[in-house]
Amino acid sequence: MKETLHKRLEELYPDMVSLRRELHKHPELSFEEVRTPALIAAFYEDLGMDVRTEVGGRGVVATLNGHHPGKTVALRADFDALPIHDQKDVPYKSTIPGVMHACGHDGHTSTLLYLAQALYEQRDTLEGTVVFIHQFAEELAPGGAKPMIEDGCLDGVDVLFGTHLWSGFPTGTIAYKSDELMAAADSFEIVIKGKGGHGGIPHEAIDSIVIASQLVGSLQQIVSRAIDPAKTAVLSVGSFHAGAANNVISETATLTGTVRTFDMDVREDIVKRMERMIKSACEAVGAEYSFTYKRGYPPVVNHETETKLLADAAENVEDVTEAIETEALMVGEDVSYYLQEVPGTFFLTGARSEEINAVYPHHHPMFDIDERAMLIAAKTLGDVTLKYLEVSKETVIER
Ligand code: MN
Repeated sequence: MKETLHKRLEELYPDMVSLRRELHKHPELSFEEVRTPALIAAFYEDLGMDVRTEVGGRGVVATLNGHHPGKTVALRADFDALPIHDQKDVPYKSTIPGVMHACGHDGHTSTLLYLAQALYEQRDTLEGTVVFIHQFAEELAPGGAKPMIEDGCLDGVDVLFGTHLWSGFPTGTIAYKSDELMAAADSFEIVIKGKGGHGGIPHEAIDSIVIASQLVGSLQQIVSRAIDPAKTAVLSVGSFHAGAANNVISETATLTGTVRTFDMDVREDIVKRMERMIKSACEAVGAEYSFTYKRGYPPVVNHETETKLLADAAENVEDVTEAIETEALMVGEDVSYYLQEVPGTFFLTGARSEEINAVYPHHHPMFDIDERAMLIAAKTLGDVTLKYLEVSKETVIER
């Protein structure tokens, strides 16, 4: 069955590329997806598969019942884009100003759709059920995973697999990891409220820019001086907005940023220390502040047995040149919610290629993927699905 699947995926590859480019031209922001879920649903309807739309909001879930009894495998792909202006010079460049598939979710979608088609065509020999989860809004917390789970997308599911096309690794690489793969990704906003005034009369004002500038530096001391060096944490200030004129002391200054952690005690310690630092910096000069800390997705924690199964499957895909264990990454992903509910693993499929200039990091305005990685992702996801259904067969009770 594996050989037939690979052969069929290779035949479908040109269509996979066309569909990915079509999606790339028409990206949609998180929680605003309309065209993309409609396109996905239509694909399954055309195949003749059962499909549920508006799952948890904008999600699409299709179910493939094999003709033989077996376990249920869920495969997950996200489909939202980012508020970034596409700066690539390619024919399939985004047609929507300021919106771009800069994380490869267009590739995830196309990969899963054609894998679904190839598996559907082999339903006569399929032992078990495959659920295709197309998730909206991965890029923006609270995300689409949680509402989709609440709306039943994991009902009856025994295991979940998913992959992210990854420009950090060359095409041909599959990178996996048991336990913690990705961090909890939180965001914060600090608004310093001083007292506006004339740039030449500072003693009658309270300068919010000076306080905020100090905080940009001092917040860095939390990770470097207060957190156990054996634990991992990142605190980044990503934006600083204040002031409008050269000779006016700005009344307010706003900082936003992100905190990434794996350990929930470390996370809470950072929040406490941030608050203390902001408070004392403001109190010292009589300024006021507001501090908003938003806890984002929990860390992605992979299950060991399923990760081993995936690694084994990947090593046996002919186009995989290297299946490696990766270090944990400080990016966040709401695939974590599914993996809190069912066993499974989320892995990375290398999609970097110097030849076609697919070398930029994710969320970069020049980001692109090596499309050949989609075929590798499809084969690997397909193989691990078949492998899981095969090894779990003994435990299935005939109905
Ligand atoms: Mn992503």
